[in-house]
Amino acid sequence: MELKLKFYSLKTIGMVFMLLISLINSSGKLDAQSSYVYKPFEPKISFEDADKKADQLLSKLSVDEKIQLLGGHRFFYIKGFDKFGIPELYLSDATQGVHIRKDLNDQLQKSTAFPCPSALAATWNIELANEFAKSIGEECRAGGIAVLLGPGMNIYRVSQNGRNFEYFGEDPFLAARMIENYVSGLQSTGTIATLKHFLCNNTEYYRRKSNSIVDERAIHEIYTPAFKAGIDAGAMGVMTSYNQVNGEWSPQSKYVVTDLLINDLGFKWLVMSDWWSTWDPVKTMHSGLDLEMPGETGDRMEVLKKMGDIFVKDAAPKLLKDGKISESDINRMAKDILRTEIAMGLLDRLVKDESYLSKFPDHENIALQTARESVVLLRNEKNLLPVIPGSNNKILLTGEYVEKIPRGGGSADVEGYNHVTMLDALKKVYGENLQYVKEPTDEQIKSANVVLLSIGTHDSEGLDKHFELPVTMENNILNIAGKNPNVVVIVNTGGGIKMSAWNENVGAILYAWYPGQNGNTALAEIISGKVNPSGKLPITIEKKFEDSPGYPYIPEGEKLYNSWIDDMSPDIPIRNVVYKEGIFVGYRWYESKKIKPLYPFGYGLSYTKFEYKNLKLSKKKISKGDVLTATFEVRNVGKVDGAETAELYVHDVKSSVPRPIKELKGFKKVFLKPGENKTVEIELKEKDFSYWDPSKKNWYAEPGEFKIMVGAASNDIRQTTNVTFN
Ligand code: BGC
Repeated sequence: MELKLKFYSLKTIGMVFMLLISLINSSGKLDAQSSYVYKPFEPKISFEDADKKADQLLSKLSVDEKIQLLGGHRFFYIKGFDKFGIPELYLSDATQGVHIRKDLNDQLQKSTAFPCPSALAATWNIELANEFAKSIGEECRAGGIAVLLGPGMNIYRVSQNGRNFEYFGEDPFLAARMIENYVSGLQSTGTIATLKHFLCNNTEYYRRKSNSIVDERAIHEIYTPAFKAGIDAGAMGVMTSYNQVNGEWSPQSKYVVTDLLINDLGFKWLVMSDWWSTWDPVKTMHSGLDLEMPGETGDRMEVLKKMGDIFVKDAAPKLLKDGKISESDINRMAKDILRTEIAMGLLDRLVKDESYLSKFPDHENIALQTARESVVLLRNEKNLLPVIPGSNNKILLTGEYVEKIPRGGGSADVEGYNHVTMLDALKKVYGENLQYVKEPTDEQIKSANVVLLSIGTHDSEGLDKHFELPVTMENNILNIAGKNPNVVVIVNTGGGIKMSAWNENVGAILYAWYPGQNGNTALAEIISGKVNPSGKLPITIEKKFEDSPGYPYIPEGEKLYNSWIDDMSPDIPIRNVVYKEGIFVGYRWYESKKIKPLYPFGYGLSYTKFEYKNLKLSKKKISKGDVLTATFEVRNVGKVDGAETAELYVHDVKSSVPRPIKELKGFKKVFLKPGENKTVEIELKEKDFSYWDPSKKNWYAEPGEFKIMVGAASNDIRQTTNVTFN
């Protein structure tokens, strides 16, 4: 008890100290009031000019040469022809940094490991998304990478998806805004962005044998807005997914590629398949796809060899002879590839530019700033955090990711360099007051003022993970929390995990995702109060998996597997994944079903408090084509600097079709000093009031009353008003 009292009085002194440092310390260059404005990317050479040049080139290539272009080359390249001035182009993964393939020649010596995309989404900072992607684009240029195989943007439908860390959360609006800024930042460096995985690849369980059964409204309202935003931002690549969509594998589905991607969403550049995901060359050539990746088996996969001539490059000559495909099919595909390369200027300059190597220190800073803004403070009982350095606090550090850097696996894996472990970062801040013990005794746990406990999961493509933590990890948390309530749990994972068993028992929870190579520095800054946390959840975290919209998605009697499996062989049956919840994904589901999640979408605490007031609309009635401006004020009413993401939601009060209780249609992150007040302006257009009407094959805003809500989280609405649409 004596110890505790001492701890809290030191804490008050500490808060004053923290206020002082926050005033002297600017927590990164993006904290400043910025004039950043999003701009879509424009290629150097227009579509029309590139089209003409592609025609000229095409007329020089023989049919066989054109066919060589249609499938990948050496697994990660697009075929080049020196004699025609067409370069061989290298494609590399992906969204959170450059994945270095050690088995290929001429690779980068190092690449920056950024926080994972779900962490980037948790920053709600569009300028940061732009800088993050620009940094990755510069590393691509340094490494000779013409095409980045990202960003990934599949919607978080199921918390168990092994690839959630590669994506931007559950909300199509948030994902769309982050993606458009990502694409414009990446492509400004001359690197092609590849929007992936189109479409409805929302779980990894038997991903090649999974059939997503999904309705048209959900496709348009939930699963395509991020792709559409990327397309409108000028993205020049799209990768289809492994799964089937409504009964056909996406790369060979005319509905997915031509009707949806090209005609509805307006994509006009390069469409490639995911690696080994096409099974019928005729369908592949007729779907609208341009490039089959990797388009060959090499000597790798026995199972593929047994399937015969399934690849376009192998099958096309005979199919042409037999009249099953025509030369115009070949020309269409080859031309789409060449036109994209020409427009990006790839025939006029070298991809590799090693001068970008000098920018790596800047990239490390962007990675660090992203980590700072991405950490979500979920719980902070009795203001346990921050733990101010310089006092005599005894801090016990233990758990999973103290000495190793947590990161996601698979093609998105980025090793990084200049790693900062949690131990290094915290030692630097707390010195001798920090004690690291792998397996602390009861006495060590009890006698500490604070216990920092690291937990997490290793997520990867190719497999899903359990929402529940391993029993030993869960028991360890309960055991420690039982002996010392001042435990701060630091969570490193890609999406949601089950916390309901111990949430109430612990003092604080910091959701830190996969924070990248130097993310532990950010974490130490947050724990010690140098940086005020400002991340907000881009996902809902359910209490139990059974509560979630995607449950159940695994056929009865089957179980998750825990390492890569063969999911190619034709003998493996297709598993239907029925998107029965339709548009009600994420908070749309929990709110409409009145299921209380553990932590709601858009939620995150701060070391300060924010007040919202004066919500006003520019008009009380709007019609087609109008722009409505919502303004309101946000004030920092606490004692330290802080950043607040203000969220705006819309609700159709009376609708003839089922619509969510809330839909995010605007947000803005503002940085505020204590006492500072800022006016936030958010514009709304007709589309923000619309739903996808399958009978009209278009967006439709139904006349009537709409509620406009602004607040700090989906469950924390502070101001409400109404507008009429007619
Ligand atoms: C992944 C893609 C990745 C590709 C190439 C596949 O396994 O699904 O996202 O871009 O490999 O590495």
